[in-house]
Amino acid sequence: MIILKTDDEIAIMAKAGRIARECLLRLGEMVTPGVRTIDLDRFAEEFIRSKGALPTFKGLYGFPATICTSKNEVVVHGVPGDTILEEGDIISIDVGATYQGFVGDTAATFPVGEVSPDALKLIEVTREALRRGIDQAVVGARIGDVGHAIESYVKQHGFSVVKDYAGHGVGRSMHESPTVPNYGRPGTGPLLRKGMVIAIEPMVNAGGSAVVTFPDMHVVTRDGSWSAHFEHTVAITEKGPVCLTVV
Ligand code: MG
Repeated sequence: MIILKTDDEIAIMAKAGRIARECLLRLGEMVTPGVRTIDLDRFAEEFIRSKGALPTFKGLYGFPATICTSKNEVVVHGVPGDTILEEGDIISIDVGATYQGFVGDTAATFPVGEVSPDALKLIEVTREALRRGIDQAVVGARIGDVGHAIESYVKQHGFSVVKDYAGHGVGRSMHESPTVPNYGRPGTGPLLRKGMVIAIEPMVNAGGSAVVTFPDMHVVTRDGSWSAHFEHTVAITEKGPVCLTVV
């Protein structure tokens, strides 16, 4: 069942979204060679709690940390720890904040120092794929329109979208209906209606789309190619898509 949100609820979700985004941007500034992913996690938890919010991911499905830190061939759900970021790496960071009972969910991939042109292109294509997906999130469109916009753009650049994981409805729970795949056929799938809030999150691999999931939940590309991930929480409104994870 798709849970529609009132304007008042969307206003609260925008506050949650702002906290998550501000945290993500601060983490992006901390991304430099030599930093450990656990240090990023500690900062994120303190930051989110200092804003009167809760770290959404911590404890969810048994996840032990506040953020997901997914380096290079890690697609999503990387667990913060002693991993040290090195010059030339890319790091995807996913942040969830719960404020007054509502969730904001956002992610981005950052270069660590100077990275290869190929890595930079992967990041830029994924960022643009998200923007194109968001553009489709209008009243009367369908979920397949969003996924189609994302996948067709990604394919143009010789990359592939991950199919085993997807975006999702978001609200009081981090994962609500509908599922928002990063592929699809135009005009198919659930209808987008005013009051829906969805997290759109392309996960893009430089190589093939196949992934492997480990017992601690982290997901890597099967072929070892690098992967990027961008995400915004988006409200469907009569005035078009409204990104809630902005500062
Ligand atoms: Mg998400």
